[in-house]
Amino acid sequence: MSANQVWKNCLKFIRENVPADVYDAWFKPIKPVSLEGQVLTIEVPSNLYYEWLETHFLDLLRAALVKNIGPQARLKYLVRMTNKPQSDHTHLAYPGRTTPQVDTRNYRSHTRKEIKSPFVVPGVEKIRIDSQLNPNYTFDNFIEGPNNRLAVSAGKSIAKFLGNTSFNPLFIYGGVGLGKTHLANAIGLEVKRLHPDKNVLYVSTEKFTQQYTSAVVNNTRDDFIHFYQMIDVLIVDDVQFLAGKTGVQKVFFQIFNHLHQNKKQLIFTSDKAPVDMRDVEIRLLSRFKWGLAAELKSPDFATRQKIIRSKLLHDGVEMPEEVIDYIARHVRSNIREIEGVLTSMIAQSAFNHKPLNLELAREVIGNFVQQRKPVYTCDMIQKIVAEYFNLRVEDLQSKSRRREIVQARQISMYLSKKFTDSSLDQIGSRIGKRNHATVIYALKTVKNLMDVDKRFRQVVQELENTLTGM
Ligand code: ADP
Ligand code: MG
Repeated sequence: MSANQVWKNCLKFIRENVPADVYDAWFKPIKPVSLEGQVLTIEVPSNLYYEWLETHFLDLLRAALVKNIGPQARLKYLVRMTNKPQSDHTHLAYPGRTTPQVDTRNYRSHTRKEIKSPFVVPGVEKIRIDSQLNPNYTFDNFIEGPNNRLAVSAGKSIAKFLGNTSFNPLFIYGGVGLGKTHLANAIGLEVKRLHPDKNVLYVSTEKFTQQYTSAVVNNTRDDFIHFYQMIDVLIVDDVQFLAGKTGVQKVFFQIFNHLHQNKKQLIFTSDKAPVDMRDVEIRLLSRFKWGLAAELKSPDFATRQKIIRSKLLHDGVEMPEEVIDYIARHVRSNIREIEGVLTSMIAQSAFNHKPLNLELAREVIGNFVQQRKPVYTCDMIQKIVAEYFNLRVEDLQSKSRRREIVQARQISMYLSKKFTDSSLDQIGSRIGKRNHATVIYALKTVKNLMDVDKRFRQVVQELENTLTGM
């Protein structure tokens, strides 16, 4: 039988088992490529398809294959980039459009396993521990920006000079969805790559707590401690959940001390800085401050753009630049939200055959993101500044060197830099066709004046209040 014939039979089976719209969206676009022995290769339009199929329809696919090929049937995916019709004008550069072969077996082995035997007492030989790291959270797909640079470079140093940095513990903190878990995992994976003989363990504070509780119940508290004392790099996620749990804090403290004294690396994440943590023993808090506390902040506009491009590349989806910009401008608070918007857009476009355009972005973001802040523009800022000084916007745009106009223009530039994501060139060209050197000079002048002139500082402050109060 040919691949075509086999796939046709599979489709028949699938169609009987899923709703028509699901069938149309997810199975119709698949093309059979080849049948070698019992291995059927199919081509899917993007990585997202493949991941979606694997997560939602794996059993169905397996049943269809076994039915039509035999019990040893296997499925291989070929991912091909699509050219979406609306993206004719703007193409992302896909480095060497590869068509990766994805083997379902390999993929499945990536799913997390439980620690098989958490309380093994170490024997003569060093035992290997399943590190519980998520293989998808690597440095490769972690976009660096001013918001995370310190934490990233500290993490990379730790992996490179394991046991010889002063970043111990590394305490990564920041709000939800800003990459704490991803970064902590990436450090763990990098350690394993560079030092394969080291025991790395990732554990969430919740899981740690559960393990501890059952160790107490089962009278295996010592085994529990021994197990953790064997680790070379211990990553504990979300330590804010230690708050109020005295028993767990005690054992945590004991493990911490042992590992730290033996120059083992500790990495913690938390949604708060150590100073802001409540209901945690002082002696433990002071340990958290021994090494480096690095904050993850919200990404700026350029970093958000990069993150979006990277996710699209990963999903094998193309999107016009203006849509990427739109998302980057409107989804500001965290990266999980950006991912949510992209996934939702891609799914909508697949299900409802909508193009990935601005209209869809607006629709999805409207449902997704609470829009609190207005989006500031240079024009808006000039208008407010002109009004404040009883000038006209045209005055700011003019070539006039009158002192009050020059100052209003400079303040407009300063506020545009602070409130918009425009580049210096963009600010210059919007505010009176100036070049970017002029903008730099303006920013400096305003800052200097604010330092020395109280009245001037008040003026700028009032203008800022007007803007933030909008
Ligand atoms: P946190 O633990 O801080 O709540 P996560 O690490 O779970 O956040 O990150 C949320 C999502 O955003 C994850 O899917 C992660 O891969 C992604 N993410 C976070 N930061 C970045 C980054 N700098 N580059 C790429 N993806 C990121
Ligand atoms: Mg997390």
